[in-house]
Amino acid sequence: MSTGGRTPPRLRALLGSIPAYVPGKPAASAGGAGWKLSSNENPYPPLPGVLEAVTTAAGRMNRYPDLHGTELTDRLAEHLAVPASRIAADTGSSALLQQLCRIAVDPGDEVVYAWRSFESYPLVARLSGARPVQVPLTGDEAHDLDAMARAVTDRTRLVFVCTPNNPTGRALRRDVLEPFLDRLPADVLIVLDEAYLEFVSDPHCADGVELCRDRPNVVTVRTFSKAYGLAGMRIGYAVAHEPVAEALRRTAVPFGVSTVAQSAAIASLDRRTELMERVGELIAERERVRGALLSQGWTPPDSQANFLWLRLGEQTTSFAEHCQDSGVTVRPYGQDGVRVTIGEREANDVFLSAAGSWRADAAEVGADRS
Ligand SMILES: *Cc1c(COP(=O)(O)O)cnc(C)c1O
Repeated sequence: MSTGGRTPPRLRALLGSIPAYVPGKPAASAGGAGWKLSSNENPYPPLPGVLEAVTTAAGRMNRYPDLHGTELTDRLAEHLAVPASRIAADTGSSALLQQLCRIAVDPGDEVVYAWRSFESYPLVARLSGARPVQVPLTGDEAHDLDAMARAVTDRTRLVFVCTPNNPTGRALRRDVLEPFLDRLPADVLIVLDEAYLEFVSDPHCADGVELCRDRPNVVTVRTFSKAYGLAGMRIGYAVAHEPVAEALRRTAVPFGVSTVAQSAAIASLDRRTELMERVGELIAERERVRGALLSQGWTPPDSQANFLWLRLGEQTTSFAEHCQDSGVTVRPYGQDGVRVTIGEREANDVFLSAAGSWRADAAEVGADRS
């Protein structure tokens, strides 16, 4: 674009080092005929009562929302058995991850997290001027907590732990996560990102709200975007001890969470039983799809989320294109692998047949070579 011969305003130099957030691609074909399994969205439409609550709330759009979402916070407090003063809501957990860096990290500090993990971590760490410290996952796609603990220095101010991990699906069990939390210095903020908590079926897995109950340096971040199916509403919350929760509330963009979003979240909590039945169906689909992939010869790690991970290395791009051509959009990550969201049964079947034909083609190429 032409600057009309004038010098553009000077923005922060660090912007050049910040990677752009890459959203999942839209459905495979432009006409909407394809399936979108690239953004970990919930395939179900909103429950009827939720839609009504939202419609009613929309009638008040001339008014500012309740600044701190008092009704929602009270409902969450009751549901989670924590004082309302320990809860901070914001426009999705993405906003909370950014806020947490803002309240805990100064330029030059270090932020530690596993890699690969959620792609917002490098972004929010760099934006706060921190040095990102990425600790590779273990060979079986899980957090390497020993290596992460060793990566913590006296410059470390914040550690992200994503469980279940996006994009690999592996979740941390209580017996490994608790010693890790207790081993880190008390003045380091540990952020448990539990965006997929509701999809966890392993009873040995940790629950962040329990883990932060008696640990003032642990905060858990949750969202209504995934299991609750409100991705388009932009609402999530953190549970932490008062100083952290208070700092989050005090520094949030005022009135970010709309009345419509607050009412959608409250109505969804009211219909939790129905929503969790849908989650149960998605968990069953996850196990069905994983079983089918295993019998095709793939090795997807055990996932506790609403997606599966296939490590494909150099074949990542061509596999994603093959899926696209077969009518289903998946999410490629560089030269690491592909994440596929568990969607409606029909979509999952289209993906399974794409995965099956890929292996058949690969076997044929192998046979030609030998
Ligand atoms: C989807 C996701 C989030 C953010 O969700 P919001 O829509 O911003 O609430 C946070 N963390 C992880 C790991 C996610 O996958």
